[in-house]
Amino acid sequence: MINDISRLAAFAKEHGFLYPSSEIYDGLSGVYDYGPYGVELKRRLAELWWRALVQVHENIVGLDSAILMHPRVWEASGHVEAFHDPLVDNKTSKKRYRVDTLIEEYAQRLEQRAQKEVEKKLRKQGQPFTPDALAEHPDYQRAQRLRTRLAQAMSARDWEALTRLLEEEKIPCPESGSTDWTPVRQFNLMFSTQLGAVAEEAQQIYLRPETAQGIFVDFPLVLKTARLKLPFGIAQIGKAFRNEIVVRQFIFRLREFEQMEMQFFVQPGTEGEWYDYWRQQRLRWHQHLGLHPQNLRFKDHEHLAHYAKAATDIEFAFPFGFKELEGIHSRTDYDLSRHAEFSGKKLEYYDEALGKSYTPYVVETSVGLDRLVLAHLSQAYTEEPAPTAEGGEELRTVLKLHPLLAPIQVAIFPLVRKDEFIQPARKLYEALRFSFMVAYEEKDTIGRRYRRYDAKGTPFAITIDGQTLQDHTVTLRYRDTLHQIRLPIARVEAFLQEQFSLAEWLRKL
Ligand code: ATP
Repeated sequence: MINDISRLAAFAKEHGFLYPSSEIYDGLSGVYDYGPYGVELKRRLAELWWRALVQVHENIVGLDSAILMHPRVWEASGHVEAFHDPLVDNKTSKKRYRVDTLIEEYAQRLEQRAQKEVEKKLRKQGQPFTPDALAEHPDYQRAQRLRTRLAQAMSARDWEALTRLLEEEKIPCPESGSTDWTPVRQFNLMFSTQLGAVAEEAQQIYLRPETAQGIFVDFPLVLKTARLKLPFGIAQIGKAFRNEIVVRQFIFRLREFEQMEMQFFVQPGTEGEWYDYWRQQRLRWHQHLGLHPQNLRFKDHEHLAHYAKAATDIEFAFPFGFKELEGIHSRTDYDLSRHAEFSGKKLEYYDEALGKSYTPYVVETSVGLDRLVLAHLSQAYTEEPAPTAEGGEELRTVLKLHPLLAPIQVAIFPLVRKDEFIQPARKLYEALRFSFMVAYEEKDTIGRRYRRYDAKGTPFAITIDGQTLQDHTVTLRYRDTLHQIRLPIARVEAFLQEQFSLAEWLRKL
């Protein structure tokens, strides 16, 4: 686990995971490119999400709807009217902030300060820490007050109330400490562009800010063509775009990102049980891919959108604290009803058992693929002492990724750069490359080659050494434990098939 996000970004760049977009022009803020190893990691995460939902469930199907959609979609969805973030500028530092994050982060700092003080005081008195003692601390109480006022203003979209909150509570700018703020203004997060060449006829359209609306709009076609019965789900992976006010924290908040969303359509009245079911299933999926239980938690929303019945975030302990990784929302029939109203088309389901039609309710699971990459990279990143070939010790950087996520699954090295080693090594590479992502390297000392692939998260390294020439066995080294075993060449493929079995992983999910 790494707790310094800029070091992780530097590591990811150096090792071919992530690059700032348009680097040679000094980058474009909030946009990143995935390098050769990052793209593998990202594709694997997407694949495991897809297989766990679409392949394994009889009643979940996939969709790939277009990024550009009819502009009325975003009126119906409420995005034209309400997809705004409140922003504010500090007059002293000239820095711009999203007001909700500014206040939330200030509340977190207050809480941390209170916690430290209470712990110190109780330690001096020889008493253990209790949440009750913390709850009495004025800073802690103030943090809770701030959160309540913030939540009320946000759900009422009352920007004046936010301006007052900043003023009355004297929220300081993290940069300058100044409390001299401009009034809070709203800012629509959708990128817009023109469809068509002739200016007068051109239509303003948007880059989609979420993939979900494609699912709602295609609901009747999918229902008909895939012959589905409630409950059923439609899953989609795709790009989304938001003109975020402030982008930072590496790939946590991007302006171009990828979402993996599944809308599960259910009979009204059953949404509660399905919400609980998907909440647990999605947590289980994250854990099954190796995210530690202590790094994951639910955060239920206290203040809900007017159409929502329940909503929770799965939060992950990112290097900068617990933050949203995935959202699970019980959304009633809001979206389908709105699209029915705006399009004039029926978006209903005929329930044979009940002998009537109705608008299904929806439980949504929505995870950011880039945030997922960040979660895995930050948890997997490990620096630890490791023995050198010469009997000494050195610090190694290793990515302890789940084997199914490893960009390169196996690395093959001839111990010495000589024909008798190179030939069997190349032969093994040729045999394995159809089933696995294999790398072959003969340059540098064996120790350096091991380190290089440790940093890419390669779970197994195979060395063709002196003994191979005698008995056709190879050395297989485990990335995490550094443990080495000898394996007959003829057994290598079967061994790897077992280690990387997707079916086994899915069966145990
Ligand atoms: P946040 O509160 O962090 O802005 P959100 O509540 O607006 O997120 P949703 O609209 O619920 O997020 O989107 C679902 C998921 O999409 C989020 O859980 C997150 O993983 C991902 N996501 C949303 N915005 C971004 C972004 N700007 N960059 C990367 N991922 C994002």
